[in-house]
Amino acid sequence: MQTEYCELCGAPLTKKGKLVQIEGAKPMKVCDKCAKLGTEVQAPRPASAGFGRPTVVRKGPAQPASAAVPRKRDMFDYMEGDIVEDFPKRIAAARLAKGFSQKDLAFVLKMQEGDIKKLERGEREPTEAERKKLEAELGIELLDTGSDSDSLQQGGVAATTLGDVLQVKRK
Ligand SMILES: [Zn+2]
Repeated sequence: MQTEYCELCGAPLTKKGKLVQIEGAKPMKVCDKCAKLGTEVQAPRPASAGFGRPTVVRKGPAQPASAAVPRKRDMFDYMEGDIVEDFPKRIAAARLAKGFSQKDLAFVLKMQEGDIKKLERGEREPTEAERKKLEAELGIELLDTGSDSDSLQQGGVAATTLGDVLQVKRK
């Protein structure tokens, strides 16, 4: 075993020496004689403070992007498609663009003028047959498919994701 010396006076230490703090200096290992000059302290135990403290793993905010999962919706609801909310506006705008009066449009579509009025006022939605006639005649899209009308005919499910459709609906 290596001989240790008093850190204060340099005398070889008998036994193990003493750890002493003198006038606020850091503890030194000294001989018995020098130990009287200061205050004996306990051997430092590095583990005493903060030992075994569990590592707190901060929970960060939830992963962005992946959190936005669209609500599930009945597939058939989507397959059939909904009449767009602003169909009255679309019908009226397209009719006016063609220079049709409501009466003209009713005549062309073999519908009642009152029905055109109701549709343009949003009092009721067009029936399936009416919708198809209106779309064909006016060149508009009245189904909320999220994209062009063709994609619905040939299986819009593959062409458009459900999420896309829902996004459009939320507008
Ligand atoms: Zn000494």
